[in-house]
Amino acid sequence: MERLSDNAVQAFIAIRRDIHQHPEMAFDEHRTSALVAEKLQAWGYAVSTGIGGTGVVGQLVRGSSGSSIGLRADMDALPIVEATGADWSSCHHGVMHACGHDGHTAMLLAAAQALAERGGFDGTLNLIFQPAEEGGGGALKMMEDGLFERFPCDAIFAMHNMPGHPQGQLVFRSGATMASSDYATVTLTGNGGHGAMPHRATDPVVAAASVVMALQTLVSRNVDPQSAAVVTVGALHAGQANNVIPASARLEISVRALDPQVRRDLERRLHDVIRLQAQSFGVRAEIDWRPGYAVLVNDPEQTERALQVALKHFPTDQVTPQGPQLTGSEDFAFMLDRVPGSYLFIGNGSDGEVGACMVHNPAYDFNDDNIGTGANYWIALVQELLSPAP
Ligand SMILES: [Zn+2]
Ligand SMILES: [Zn+2]
Repeated sequence: MERLSDNAVQAFIAIRRDIHQHPEMAFDEHRTSALVAEKLQAWGYAVSTGIGGTGVVGQLVRGSSGSSIGLRADMDALPIVEATGADWSSCHHGVMHACGHDGHTAMLLAAAQALAERGGFDGTLNLIFQPAEEGGGGALKMMEDGLFERFPCDAIFAMHNMPGHPQGQLVFRSGATMASSDYATVTLTGNGGHGAMPHRATDPVVAAASVVMALQTLVSRNVDPQSAAVVTVGALHAGQANNVIPASARLEISVRALDPQVRRDLERRLHDVIRLQAQSFGVRAEIDWRPGYAVLVNDPEQTERALQVALKHFPTDQVTPQGPQLTGSEDFAFMLDRVPGSYLFIGNGSDGEVGACMVHNPAYDFNDDNIGTGANYWIALVQELLSPAP
């Protein structure tokens, strides 16, 4: 495979830094999606905009095979005050590309231009630029807008940078790879009163403390020790003064799992434990359960195909066939529920190197050396999976 030229890589590093300077939050990616649409159009893609809000799809057909492939990049930034000190730091105070979505967008654009120029594939290429990956569920919004009915794909792929792996390392994993993330707000309502006369009140603070401790048993006693899960009580609010028993207490809970069945079990056990704990203290529990992102499951067959492409075009030691699971979440999981495919990581730099700073940290920055590596992988994947008949 012909690698991207240094000039091409430099041009897309400039685009990455331009996007970095102009970060936009979920569903507000107007400048970014306009930039993406304009470039794709100029290279001859059929471009559709406004899908699921600010989503863009660029479609390119070559040959007549009827096969199709979808590649996804995300475009949104985070509400973080940037502290990289880079020349291309954010122009918007309090908004920052701290997850590298600027880089993902630039890598896919670099591949888009080369594939339009070179061809070398037989079928339909759908490039999906989605809004709102960071909690907004932009993938789901694009699907509700008919993404896969309008742009059918035989298989879909996405790539996310990951600090902690050496720069350019291509990390694959078959099966469950990233966690589901659900949320619960719990309100415990008792009967307030004087702190000196607890017997005349029903204290929600003691009930809340007991609920927090009881929830620790969900992972330790109900989940198979070989299966990862997390239950975190991230907020607990009650009361104002030392001599007043408040009327209510509120808990904010985050629940993650790496197996769809464990996810369902945790939801059921959380409701049971909270309800019965509350009952034992004579307080009322209201549980507002909000399902978030699904478990991200990589299709074994598509992951194997994606892995073989990497092994064919990159040095063996640059490829990790079965990387670790992560308890973070990713809304590409919704797309993978519908269409078989695979989500891979590209190392942003190992510990002690440039790019090692973790995503969502104010000092994080996408490693520009990955623009070429990532784009070269995308080009190879398209040309191999949609390879023209000999
Ligand atoms: Zn992120
Ligand atoms: Zn991200």
